Amino acid sequence: MVSIIPIPAFADNYIWLLRDRANAVVVDPGDAAPVLDYLVREDLALTGVLATHHHNDHVGGIPALLERYAVPVFGPARESIPGRSRAIAAGDVVCLPGLPVTLTGIDIPGHTAGHIAFFGDVDGQPSLFCGDTLFAAGCGRLFEGTPGEMWKSLSTLADLPAATRVYCGHEYTLANLRFALAVEPDNATLRERARSEQAKRDRGEPTLPTSIGLELATNPFLRVSLPNVKAAVERHAGSSVADDVAVFAALREWKNRF
Ligand code: ZN
Ligand code: FE
Repeated sequence: MVSIIPIPAFADNYIWLLRDRANAVVVDPGDAAPVLDYLVREDLALTGVLATHHHNDHVGGIPALLERYAVPVFGPARESIPGRSRAIAAGDVVCLPGLPVTLTGIDIPGHTAGHIAFFGDVDGQPSLFCGDTLFAAGCGRLFEGTPGEMWKSLSTLADLPAATRVYCGHEYTLANLRFALAVEPDNATLRERARSEQAKRDRGEPTLPTSIGLELATNPFLRVSLPNVKAAVERHAGSSVADDVAVFAALREWKNRF
């Protein structure tokens, strides 16, 4: 049995840790200290590291982890990742060292130019580790990519099975939901979600993982093809917007200033 544990880091990052009774693999360890604390407390051996993109809040802890554990590091082929031992491109298969889990790389450029995701079954549940690309009710900023690239990347993730559990890199959900409600004030599923996610935070729980199905119903960045989302974007922009990519671009701009 493999479980997936959130390790909070910095102000709002999650380092995801996959574990059985003996071994653990971490995703995006921006900081080594909370990972090492967990491994010691739970008497686990680190057997591998995955990285989705090169930002320091996702890879900054890798060198200190490698000092303690000589393990493989799987990271995006098109980015520089400290200690990377295997370059992962779209379609590459990663057998997690020490755990009965196999994940596949997906190319999702936009937040960074070489950003990847890892997707596969964990204990029979389709699971996605997507760094800073798809967030609960939101998406990452476009630091190195175009709106067209990000829209294509998000569309690729949106096509995964609806039941897919989505493990994002940050706890941004409540702020994202406030924006989502400004875009779609009449979306009943979204309003209900805002209540339930607020309740989780009030209890001190993560809002993650989310699911592809829930994101399709409530994440405005996956809903730019819908007439009501396009109309809200056009009202806000004060002009008509040509196609899905243009709606996405205007929505991302709106969120940047929200
Ligand atoms: Zn990032
Ligand atoms: Fe980040």
